[in-house]
Amino acid sequence: MNSTVNIAIDGPAGAGKSTIARRLAAEMGYIYVDTGALYRTVALNVVRHSVESDNTNAIIGLLKDADVNIAYKNGEQRVILNGEDVSELIRTPEISMMASKVSAIPEVRTFLLGLQRKLARENNVVMDGRDIATVVLPEARVKIFLTASAEVRARRRYIELLDKGTEVEFETVLKEMIQRDEQDMNRAVAPLKPSEDSVIVDTSDVDLDGAVRLMREAVESQLKKG
Ligand code: C5P
Repeated sequence: MNSTVNIAIDGPAGAGKSTIARRLAAEMGYIYVDTGALYRTVALNVVRHSVESDNTNAIIGLLKDADVNIAYKNGEQRVILNGEDVSELIRTPEISMMASKVSAIPEVRTFLLGLQRKLARENNVVMDGRDIATVVLPEARVKIFLTASAEVRARRRYIELLDKGTEVEFETVLKEMIQRDEQDMNRAVAPLKPSEDSVIVDTSDVDLDGAVRLMREAVESQLKKG
């Protein structure tokens, strides 16, 4: 029996999962686990070895020498690849797309599963991803599927990239967002979808504070149910 409290938040790219989950975790005194960062770290390793996204065997081969881990620095999650903090390097459109590709490989998912479950076993967590409620933590006390329209999500991601000084076109961000959604929803293993018992929260028409409020209400009502 798991004695820690686990909150699972799933949803498509740009739904605001990480911002909202991070805030929720801070308010509740829980650890925030961004599982997308783990897939991104595997993707970075693949790009660094100049392996193409369709070379499944080579990608699987790289896993045996890849040590992927999570550390917390000043309460912030950092991702560590073979001892190197790569948290900043994984936030590029190239790595987003490669992460979506490598995450469709069952061996990659299995490779990252143990670490995610261990973190949830040992800590109260707010964990965000695509398959947390369906696969990683099916026993989570709270399960939320956070979503918003593709245009709204692309707009948010576009502004985020501009703020970081990345030069991009809105149309490109939107196109890649839709492509990534499709890949994530249609893959054979752990596709992106709400579990039957997830509460769906749509943030298309609310700002960040509104989204956090909607989430808090959904979490509280599920925690009350026990
Ligand atoms: O959440 P983020 O956009 O950082 O995730 C990057 C990619 O990693 C996603 O597009 C998805 O393909 C993959 N992912 C996944 N399962 C998770 C988290 C992320 O397949 N639990």
